[in-house]
Amino acid sequence: MPLPTGPKHVHCYVAHGTLFDTGLGLGETPWESVGVERIAITHFHPDHVGGAEVAARATGAPVFQGGLDYAQCERVWGSDDWPERMAAWFVRHGVPANVAEDLIVQGHAFAPFIRYAIDPDLLYEGSEVGGWQVLELPGHADGHLGFLRDGVLIAGDHLLRRITPAVGLYPESRPDPLGDYLASLERTIELAPRVVYPGHGEPIRDAAARAQELIEHHRIRLDDHTAALSTEPHTAYEVSLAVFGRELAPIQRRFAVAETLSHLERLVREGRAARSGDDNRVSYTSP
Ligand SMILES: [Zn+2]
Repeated sequence: MPLPTGPKHVHCYVAHGTLFDTGLGLGETPWESVGVERIAITHFHPDHVGGAEVAARATGAPVFQGGLDYAQCERVWGSDDWPERMAAWFVRHGVPANVAEDLIVQGHAFAPFIRYAIDPDLLYEGSEVGGWQVLELPGHADGHLGFLRDGVLIAGDHLLRRITPAVGLYPESRPDPLGDYLASLERTIELAPRVVYPGHGEPIRDAAARAQELIEHHRIRLDDHTAALSTEPHTAYEVSLAVFGRELAPIQRRFAVAETLSHLERLVREGRAARSGDDNRVSYTSP
């Protein structure tokens, strides 16, 4: 399915009657004609869940989504004040007010287009759907699911060939998403699926090697973040300027600050950084 931005496409797969992910739900969809008996969602990001309601209506098929993922989906796309809460949280982490304002405007513009399915059947680790085993693979999203059958893993954005999946810390989310992600990558290495069908890009036949590569990538990024810290307190925004550079559009800055925060919180847990501050301002130092 086409996307207006980023990788310009997202993959939806139909296998054994299950449709995995639904695209943004804009424009024409082929779902009536491809034999969809049920719909399963890997995670609540717009390009995966945004067309779920359209697909369900076109096919009459039930929608399955992770329990935690659906809770976050509702909180983010189903509440009027989420962009404001998100912006306030970014301001706490040092993002200038005018940059945070842009986030509010963009947040409100985007939400109406995300037509997720209301009250889906909820899935958890150990659930089964259409003969596929449900795995919880948190990291890129807290409630990210994978679907495993005969060595085939439908992986959403957990594992991508060329793109490094974004791992950000956001308000009201699990506290250590990068720790979650590194554990999910280790689990992928143990599972050693025969082939991974990702949300973007080509199928991955050396999943364990790719997972190892991503673990190494984040080890280096953690070192980069350590190098940007000192005994002087710095906000996550300031650290993101050092790590990601100063020339980023507001939307990219949001991802950069969230990514910086996931690394800083991992460093806090590894004893390599310290967090201080209050409800107004949070900052980080080297320990
Ligand atoms: Zn995603």
